[in-house]
Amino acid sequence: MGQVLLSGEQAMAVEGLRRYLAAEADPLFGKAYRDRFMPREVLVPVMRRLAEFGLVSGAVSPAAGGLGLDWLTSLMLFEEVAACSVDLSVPVLINSFGAYLLEQVASSALRERYLPGLIAGTSFVSMGISEPGAGSNVLEVRTRARRDGDHWVISGEKTWISNGGYSDFLICLCRTGEDPRGGLTQILIDRHEHGYDVREIDKIAFNSQSTAQIFLDEVRVPVANTIGEEGGALKRTLAHFEKSRAFVAMQSVGLARRALEEAVTYAGVRRQHGKAIAGHQLIAAMLADMATQVDAARLLVHRAGQLFDAGRGAEMEAAMAKYFACEAAVSVARQAVQIHGGNGVTRDFLVEKLAREAIVCPIPEGTSQIQQLIIARALTGVAAF
Ligand SMILES: Cc1cc2nc3c(=O)[nH]c(=O)nc-3n(C[C@H](O)[C@H](O)[C@H](O)COP(=O)(O)OP(=O)(O)OC[C@H]3O[C@@H](n4cnc5c(N)ncnc54)[C@H](O)[C@@H]3O)c2cc1C
Repeated sequence: MGQVLLSGEQAMAVEGLRRYLAAEADPLFGKAYRDRFMPREVLVPVMRRLAEFGLVSGAVSPAAGGLGLDWLTSLMLFEEVAACSVDLSVPVLINSFGAYLLEQVASSALRERYLPGLIAGTSFVSMGISEPGAGSNVLEVRTRARRDGDHWVISGEKTWISNGGYSDFLICLCRTGEDPRGGLTQILIDRHEHGYDVREIDKIAFNSQSTAQIFLDEVRVPVANTIGEEGGALKRTLAHFEKSRAFVAMQSVGLARRALEEAVTYAGVRRQHGKAIAGHQLIAAMLADMATQVDAARLLVHRAGQLFDAGRGAEMEAAMAKYFACEAAVSVARQAVQIHGGNGVTRDFLVEKLAREAIVCPIPEGTSQIQQLIIARALTGVAAF
């Protein structure tokens, strides 16, 4: 389903990964830990195997111990993970971007200490931006880091933090100065050495992995744990979003593809009015609409990936991919439930879970409304936010 042209190497990598996921990961996420928190010791062996396929490790160059995959290939592999399990795709996504940030910006001491575990699949990072009062507007971050000699003293609360419960360290966006744009700094906080409290958040979906609140109370962290220059985090965070949004878009493509596959199978076997429901024109129309949305979303994501690989700015294209793919996932998952009739709302069928997951997708990494504002700003040059 959904043909795109892959190189021979890409096709082999995607096929090998698909086989592993179907055999090993799908039973874990689809059955044993369906809607149930997966403990770290169960997740680690999966992350280790995924690292061998180029997930997380692909985001880092060979010089720093990674596989150094191009963005497009990384996105193709990521689609397979999301089509297997959106829950599993979250730690892959967060660790990939944590690893990418460490390689690009962190000091060699931080890189040497924290990067190897991430790219081997044995440690976890969290990216702490959002707070109770700072969601769509990053400038409202209040978590405060004040200098005390050669340490930062950090207090505040982060929320919606993916990987929070698994995390060994947090890359925390802190306010270190009064300038709204120039007063934000990223600081690496080690959970075991410096300490922070974590509380899981119960959600409509995505409950096999960790989304958490993180509480920081006068946490002392060496100034050497600053990532990049003091006050320079806003520009970097926004640049980071450009790439990570393409992956969140691909998460939705994977989810929607899975919903389509489930609907096609069901429509072929469920019979009403003397024939398989796939033979009813209104069901066929739904399937055609779903398939077209999945493919259009994937092509938008691939275009963003190609622009990244060409070293070109792709803020608008990544926003389009994120906006379209996440809204497509909602629409496709809903239609997949409809095609399943009453069975579609029971826990015996996967589409019920996919529909709950799809509702979440247009929220993280910039809501659909924020993506619309970014797209319109690129078109008009006028910021509406
Ligand atoms: C599953 C999940 C995982 C997440 N993981 C992380 C993570 O790892 N790290 C992290 O830092 N954050 C994470 N987040 C947080 C996420 O980035 C925020 O939820 C998101 O940015 C939206 O912020 P908010 O929830 O505060 O909503 P708000 O910003 O309060 O928005 C509420 C509504 O208002 C709309 N809105 C806001 N401003 C405007 C505007 N100017 N114009 C029009 N409409 C507007 C929004 O689109 C939305 O519909 C995660 C969230 C979820 C759900």
